[in-house]
Amino acid sequence: MKRIYLDHAATSWPKPEAVYAAIDTYQREIGASAGRGSYASARRADAVVSGARRAIAELIGEADPRRVVFTSSGTDSLSTAIFGVLRGGEHVVSTVCEHNAVLRPLAELASSVRAHPIRYDLVDCDAAARVDPEVIRQSLRTETRLVIVNHVSNVTGVAQEVRRIREIAHEHGALVLVDAAQSLGKMPVDVRELGADLVAAPGHKGLLGPHGVGVLWLREGVESEVRPLRYGGVAIDGAATELPTAMPHRYESGTQNVAALAGLEAGVSHLLSVGVAAISEHVSELTAQLTSALRSIAGVCFIVEPAPSSAGVVSFNIDGYDPHEAAALLEQLAGIECRAGLHCAPKLHTALGSSGAVRLSIGATTTLAEIDAVHEAVSQLASTPVA
Ligand code: PMP
Repeated sequence: MKRIYLDHAATSWPKPEAVYAAIDTYQREIGASAGRGSYASARRADAVVSGARRAIAELIGEADPRRVVFTSSGTDSLSTAIFGVLRGGEHVVSTVCEHNAVLRPLAELASSVRAHPIRYDLVDCDAAARVDPEVIRQSLRTETRLVIVNHVSNVTGVAQEVRRIREIAHEHGALVLVDAAQSLGKMPVDVRELGADLVAAPGHKGLLGPHGVGVLWLREGVESEVRPLRYGGVAIDGAATELPTAMPHRYESGTQNVAALAGLEAGVSHLLSVGVAAISEHVSELTAQLTSALRSIAGVCFIVEPAPSSAGVVSFNIDGYDPHEAAALLEQLAGIECRAGLHCAPKLHTALGSSGAVRLSIGATTTLAEIDAVHEAVSQLASTPVA
C-alpha cells in the first residue's frame, strides 16, 4: 500500500531531492569537520555551514547571518534560550499552548530542588485556542524577565498575536522568545517585523532539512543576556579558557552536524526559490479541502475549527474511537500516517477539554488525491459501528 504521509507537523517528508543530494555529496566527498582545519576539504565544510547560515538569514529577513545560531534541534534552541536567559528568582509568562520543549525547561527551572527557582505563569487560551494579549499583560510582574509564546500551535494550527504580545512584553521590559517550530518555512516569517528577541525552530519541519539541526535567532545585542548552554571547542580562540563572546560561536561548542546543515541549506534554498508564500497557499487550499471533507462526515468533531491558515494542522476525533485506535486503523485501511494523542502539548488539550486527538498535518508535497483518500477512509471508519 502506498504511504500517505500526513505528519508534516512532526517532520517534513519527503524532502526536496536537492536535500538528499547535498547530504550525500557532503558525506561522500567532503566529510571533514567544519571550523577545525585549513585544508581544502575542511574549508569546503566551513562553506557548507556558512551557506546554511546565509540561507536561513535570507529566509527570515536578517541581514547579518552571524545572528543565526545552529543547535541540534528545536528543543535544543528553546533550551538554549530559556536556560540562558533565566536566573533564580525571575518570573516567566508563557501560555498553555506551549510544547513540552517549553513547558519542561520551565518546570525544571521552577523545581523546588533548585536553590533559586524561577516562577512562571501559563496564560489560558479561549475555546478557539487563542491567547488574549491583554491577559499576558495582566500576568506580568516586576520580576518578569521572559515571555515565551508559541507562534503557531502544533495541535490546532492557531497563530497567536505575537507582535501585540511582543509590544506588551517590551513595554514591561521583558524579553520575548518565540517558538516558531510550526511557522518557520511554512509561512512568511520576518524576524525584524516580528520584533522578538529570540526565535527558535527545528531544521527538519518547514525548513525541509533533515533531523539533527535546529536554529536559534538572537536579536542584535541580546547575546549579552543569554548564557550558552554548552561549553567547549569552537571555530575561534582555541587558546582562551573561556568561551568567546563572538556570534555565532558563543552558542556552537562542539563539532557541528555538517551533513544535516548541508541538507538544511538545500531545503532552505528550495524554499527561497519556490517561495514560502506559494507553499503556504498550497497548504491552505488543501487544509480548506480537508476541513470541509471531514466536516461532512457525521461523527467527526474538530478540537478547534481549523482555519485555512492553520499551517496544515487539522486535529479531530471520530465518535466511538480512541484517537490512537483511529490512527492505527487509518494506516491499516489506507496507509495514512498521522499522529494521535497529546502531541507534546498536554496543557493545550486540557484547556480545550480534549483528552487527545488524531492530527493530520499537510505539507508542501501533499496532494488533493491524498485528501480524497483521507475523506474516504475517515468516512468508512465513522460509519462502521463501534464494537
Ligand atoms: N515546539 C513545537 C511547537 C513543536 O511542534 C516541536 C516539535 N514537535 C518542538 C517545539 C520541538 O522541536 P524538536 O522536536 O525538533 O526538537
